[in-house]
Amino acid sequence: TDVKELLLSRIRDVPDYPKAGVMFKDITPLLADPTAFSALTDALAGLCVEHGATKIVGLEARGFILAAPVAVRAGIGFIPVRKAGKLPGATLSQAYELEYGQAEIEVHAEDLAAGDRVMVIDDVLATGGTAEASLQLIRRAGAEVAGLAVLMELGFLGGRPRLEPALKGAPLEAL
Ligand code: IMP
Repeated sequence: TDVKELLLSRIRDVPDYPKAGVMFKDITPLLADPTAFSALTDALAGLCVEHGATKIVGLEARGFILAAPVAVRAGIGFIPVRKAGKLPGATLSQAYELEYGQAEIEVHAEDLAAGDRVMVIDDVLATGGTAEASLQLIRRAGAEVAGLAVLMELGFLGGRPRLEPALKGAPLEAL
């Protein structure tokens, strides 16, 4: 579609970042283009409404940039899922494996509860480790997963099949 082509045209490939052999997808040109950023916001907000979300989770850090305007556009509350140690209130934490070592994400426990339907938003789905941990966190908080929506899915990294058990039938939407 036209929107898809516009979005793709505003994503820059940066070779060997953050290390040799990695082709980094840089969304900063898209963010700097208000037409493209607005089209992306509309598309993601439409998915949140379509899938019946009652809360929108953004994943730190680039997920925040996308999810916040989507939440405003859709008229749905925004909930930050942050790296460990950044949230001041009582949190739930979820550890997950990185290529080397471990990472941990957290959410304010009071932000999610039974009856919530949560849409998770991030910029790029790579191996799926981050998204998988966020889905586990949401379920442990007692909430339901409405879906996972990303700007871009790097299919060759196998995130989609990896996420299948954690999604439990919820949709994975990649624009
Ligand atoms: P995963 O956990 O391996 O799926 O990695 C996804 C996380 O890393 C997301 O939060 C992304 O923001 C980030 N990430 C991985 N690769 C890229 C990329 O090429 N561009 C931008 N972000 C990326």
